[in-house]
Order: sequence, then structure tokens, then C-alpha cells
Amino acid sequence: MKAAVFLGPGRIEVTDIPVPEVGPGDVLVEVRAASICGTDLRIMKHGHFRIPEGTRRVLGHELTGRIVEAGADVRGFAVGDRVSVAPNVGCGVCAMCRRGLNQLCPTYDAFGITLNGGFEEYMLVPAVAIERGNLFHVPDAVGDEIAAIMEPMSCCLHGQRKVEVSPEDSVLIIGAGPIGCFHTVLAKRAGARQVIVANTRQPRLDIAGRLGADHLINVSEQDLHEEVMALTGGEGVDVVITCVSKPDVIASTTDLAGRLGRINVFSGLGDQARPAIDVNALHYQEQTLTGTTGSSVTDYGDVIGIIAESDVDLTPIITARFALDDIEAAMEHSRSGVGMKSLITFDRGGAR
Ligand SMILES: [Zn+2]
Ligand SMILES: [Zn+2]
Repeated sequence: MKAAVFLGPGRIEVTDIPVPEVGPGDVLVEVRAASICGTDLRIMKHGHFRIPEGTRRVLGHELTGRIVEAGADVRGFAVGDRVSVAPNVGCGVCAMCRRGLNQLCPTYDAFGITLNGGFEEYMLVPAVAIERGNLFHVPDAVGDEIAAIMEPMSCCLHGQRKVEVSPEDSVLIIGAGPIGCFHTVLAKRAGARQVIVANTRQPRLDIAGRLGADHLINVSEQDLHEEVMALTGGEGVDVVITCVSKPDVIASTTDLAGRLGRINVFSGLGDQARPAIDVNALHYQEQTLTGTTGSSVTDYGDVIGIIAESDVDLTPIITARFALDDIEAAMEHSRSGVGMKSLITFDRGGAR
């Protein structure tokens, strides 16, 4: 079968590898769509500490497909089922896993990092992932392309749960890439009374607008602080979510939030300098500064339900589709920041 194999930083090869052997507790998924994530791009650039040099790994942790083979011991899933996976498989016994926070498990396994992921024709879901609840049915109401982008949305749900977005809230989302757009949809769904989205690029802002943002701020033309104060009667917003990896943006959040403001640092900074945070704002305005990473199996399951029942069409978030052979072009499209999500789609005419 065809697979895009990561060989080390900057090196990926589309090649033939054997179809995985299916053990008694495993299922084999015929991948229908797999989405490219910033994490894939970071691994392509820098590698990953959980992928030792010399490993041949198939990346891709945002995917959906159909079960084409199920081991004799598998319960609850059968050949023909449409499925997707929550990528982080916790150990099941550590303090984080016991709290249901499998994404914080220090010894997690993950599709696309320690297990082969979705940039291949057939992906093995091992028994342990099924036992830990990482395999999900995809409802009929959710098409393959949308099912392939549920994972990043589940991370956004996890982030909004941390800052408890509610109908009382004015929410500022900084960044209108795919993540900012998912946050927009979720904040509106939570009933936030005002959702403000800021970005440097108008096309991205326009997509956030189509997905329900109440106010768009183009920060290449407008002053973010001034606009936010104008929109909030000088009070600042109740919630700020950062979806851009810029230290100065993260430093500015305490000025953009008002009294009791809750801030979620949703974007990591990699090896960039850490911003100075105005701790006096935290103190005198009783603000709360939080961060989140990834999502739990619970968040993932919940987001499937949210998407299935939602009227919001998420397809504007997908701006390009590529064949597996063209994965490097797909990654380049994602990297460019011109479009939004790039999908790898599979022509299912061929043989295994
Ligand atoms: Zn991702
Ligand atoms: Zn664990």
C-alpha cells in the first residue's frame, strides 16, 4: 500500500509499505481523508523527541476512514463502520489518565508520532487504542472531510472548557486560521454574547465572519487594543484566546482582558523568547491566565456530537485537497498561511 513515510527532518517519501497485520484486538482502517496539522509541519521541520532518528514513521493524526478488517476479539466496531481516532492514547494508569486527561499522559502513544498515522492508505488501530476509547464512530451527519478535521476542533473545545466560555462573555480570539475559526464556532455555540476575531489577513477574517464572528479586526490596518476597547465600552473582554505563536501577542492579552478576564494561551511558542506577563493585571484585575494543549478522549467524543448536530458548515475551513503523492505540496500549502486546512484525500479505485 502507499504511504507517506517521514524519514527525518525535511525528508518524507511516498512509497510502498506492507499493509499492517491485524491482531485479534486491532482494526484496520481504510483512510478516506487526513488533514495536515501544524504539528505535522513542526515534525517535518524539527523532528520529534518521541521519533528516534532512523525511525520510519507515517505522520498524520487528523483522519477518518472505514474499517476494512477487524480482529476476532474486537467488540463494538465492525467492518464497514465509519470511524475516526482521538490521537493521544494514554497509558490508562497514571494520575493524568485517571483524571481523564489522556493528552497529558507522560508516556502517551500517539497516532502520527509513536504509531503510524493517517498519511497512508490503511492505518492500523491497535487494541490498546480501542480499549482506551480512542476509536470513535462517525455519525452519518458528518461527512469524511469534516470528520478529518474534528481533532483540532476537539482541542479548541478543551481550551474553551478551561476558560468556561458562557453567554455572559465577550470573547476575543486572536488568529483566524483553522484554530481561530474552530474557536469562533464553539464560542458562538456556547452562546457568547460577543465574539471578536483578530487577524492580519482579510481572507481568513472573512471565513471567521462566515462562521459567525460578530466583529472582525484586521490588525494590519487597525489597532487591536483600540478596537477591542471601542467594542467593549473600554472594559476589555471577558475571555481572550490566543491562536498565534507570537510572544508579543501573548504579552498583550492582559491589557485586552478586563476585570476577572480569563486568558487561554492556546498557541505554543516553540523556542521563541517567552513573553513578560503583566502579573499586576492578574493581581489587581483578578485575571486568570491558563493554557491548554490537545484534547482528551472525552473532548473528542463531545465534539463529534457538536458537529453532528450543528447547522454551521465547516467546509470553508478546508481550502485545498491533495492526493497522497502530493503530500509535500499539501504541506507547503498549509505552511504558506494563504489557505486554511489542507486535506489528503484518497482515490478509492485502487487495490490494497
Ligand atoms: Zn492536529
Ligand atoms: Zn497515562
